[in-house]
Amino acid sequence: MGTRARERENGRGERVLAGLWRLRLPLPWPGVPHGNAWAFSAGDGIVLVDTGVHSGDSMEQLQRAMEQVGLSLDQVKLLLITHAHNDHWGQALPIVERTGCEMWVHPASAMALAHLADPEEELRLRLEVARQSGIPQAALDAYAERELGREPLFAGPVPASRDLVDGVQIESDLGVWQAYETPGHAASHVCLYQPEHRLLISGDHLLGRIVLWFDRGDTPDPVAEYLRSLDVVAGLRARLALSGHGKPFLDVPGHIEGSRRAVRAQIDTALAALADGPRTALQVAAEVNDGRPAGSSNPAWRLPLTLCVLEHLEREGRVARESDGELEHWRVTVG
Ligand SMILES: [Zn+2]
Ligand SMILES: [Zn+2]
Repeated sequence: MGTRARERENGRGERVLAGLWRLRLPLPWPGVPHGNAWAFSAGDGIVLVDTGVHSGDSMEQLQRAMEQVGLSLDQVKLLLITHAHNDHWGQALPIVERTGCEMWVHPASAMALAHLADPEEELRLRLEVARQSGIPQAALDAYAERELGREPLFAGPVPASRDLVDGVQIESDLGVWQAYETPGHAASHVCLYQPEHRLLISGDHLLGRIVLWFDRGDTPDPVAEYLRSLDVVAGLRARLALSGHGKPFLDVPGHIEGSRRAVRAQIDTALAALADGPRTALQVAAEVNDGRPAGSSNPAWRLPLTLCVLEHLEREGRVARESDGELEHWRVTVG
């Protein structure tokens, strides 16, 4: 590996405004090379929002990013989690152990912990759904082998000191931040809003480059939840969004509308894919675009997303599924 590639992968801190910093942390995923943690000053300490993944040198990466902007891990007195995905809370345990800080997270994170507690059963369920959806056995075997060999990226569970839910307030030097539950991307998703400065820590609910993802299986209709959560942030009048990946961005209403359009486009594409007769979810997924550049998307990512869209339409009575015992086919309902 050349030095340039190594530099790109290192943690990096930047000041966004006085008392607010972006900590850009490397991720081990080709399509998503970085994620953000955020830090804001609060009296004699700082509040850290999200953690990055846990892997070999991830604590050094976090410390390195903090040191670049004159912060140190020992100042952290509170850790807030936007949602229970590994790139956002994977490293909570060593941070809490090291600093003794509290961690606040949404109670739906318990579902993520249940999945993490039994990864083999999780994989078995995922493979079963993928098989019914039309993924060939050889591809399933290769996927299973990759998954079983993967680093967990999650250091271990941390008991929450407090549930991060609607109405929770967080004091800071910039003023009070308000928590807003925004499920959809993940059932545990929460955004943080600072009304005087109109700042929104948007997690993965709103991203500068729109990429949709819905956690399947934790709640009946994450697509509907996501659309409702877009309405929640639309009501906040945020001016600057600090998202879980990528640079801070302006034009929050434009990004909210873009996210709504992206969902509508997926719904339209799924319905169009079923226009000529029943299809497997895999066949529908081949048509659905999740917003990633062509070529960087793979079926392991697109299939669960497509299933969420199909199950959303099923709940609305617009599509139905039938199984022949082997494969599940989806069709448009008539009338
Ligand atoms: Zn996420
Ligand atoms: Zn993320």
